[in-house]
Amino acid sequence: MSGKIIDGKALAAEIKKDLKEKIGDLKTKPKFAIVLVGRNEASEIYVKNKQKAALEVGIESVLYAFDEKATQKELENLIEKLNKDCSVNGILIQLPLPESLDGQALIEKIDVQKDVDGFCPLNIGRFECGCRNTLVAATPKGVLRLLENAGVKLEGKSALVIGRSNIVGKPMAMLLLEKNCTVTVAHSATQNLPELVRQADIVVSATGRAKMIKGSWLKKGAVVVDVGISRDGNGKICGDVDFESALDVASYITPVPGGVGPMTIAMLLENVLEAYLKQNA
Ligand code: NDP
Repeated sequence: MSGKIIDGKALAAEIKKDLKEKIGDLKTKPKFAIVLVGRNEASEIYVKNKQKAALEVGIESVLYAFDEKATQKELENLIEKLNKDCSVNGILIQLPLPESLDGQALIEKIDVQKDVDGFCPLNIGRFECGCRNTLVAATPKGVLRLLENAGVKLEGKSALVIGRSNIVGKPMAMLLLEKNCTVTVAHSATQNLPELVRQADIVVSATGRAKMIKGSWLKKGAVVVDVGISRDGNGKICGDVDFESALDVASYITPVPGGVGPMTIAMLLENVLEAYLKQNA
């Protein structure tokens, strides 16, 4: 058996096309602000990609770039200013931040209506309490969209989420639970990972451990979504899953690159439009 590759790039392109049409009908352009602190090559690439994609669909983006000496107060002042600025519909803080800063405190300063990353505790809490009128983190939202678009049945399935970060693993587990999966969350202290993987109908991995999950661990026909982004021994970009061996066992699998990554950006843009529409209702 050879698994079907879920093409995140193609679905993201469709979503962006749809967004562009919707945005073309608006009187003003949605706009979001990106706060970037310090020099981190990966973050700089992510920010560039987000701005490029925004431009493609007609969303305006403004970058506030600070050097690593930026203070908590300076950033708080900027967020307060952006919160008050009616022309700004969304605010995102590019993570990771330098260790000298309290990122969580900054995220909590963002107006919940402008929290297009869906990282504010109020947005997370509202979602967990069953409120669906809230901004949801882009990466897990994108994973769910990929699964649904591929026609994967979720109800009653056993899902394993590997990783428990606030931005991927935890919201992912909540979204799958919401879709009536029976969800297990694994992390670095999990003892029997290969065994848990073997029992799962759906595996979503977000650890950043290059090619950690082997095809031989998977249940035959499992659906595999690889969120991880790392480099292998040859410096080539790869995911958490050993793609070659997993492809023979999985029924569906996302590649890295070209799977979850493009969907994260598409979902961010969707969140910016959602925030704009709510603010202008
Ligand atoms: P974090 O480092 O915040 O979290 C990683 C998680 O993986 C932690 O919960 C950690 O456990 C767990 N973990 C680490 N090692 C193991 C292991 N050996 N077995 C089981 N669990 C393990 O990362 P993020 O959640 O921010 O990102 C995860 C990956 O996804 C990264 O590669 C990142 O680059 C990528 N990413 C990709 C995106 C995309 O759009 N494609 C978007 C966001 C992230 P513990 O909590 O115990 O430390």
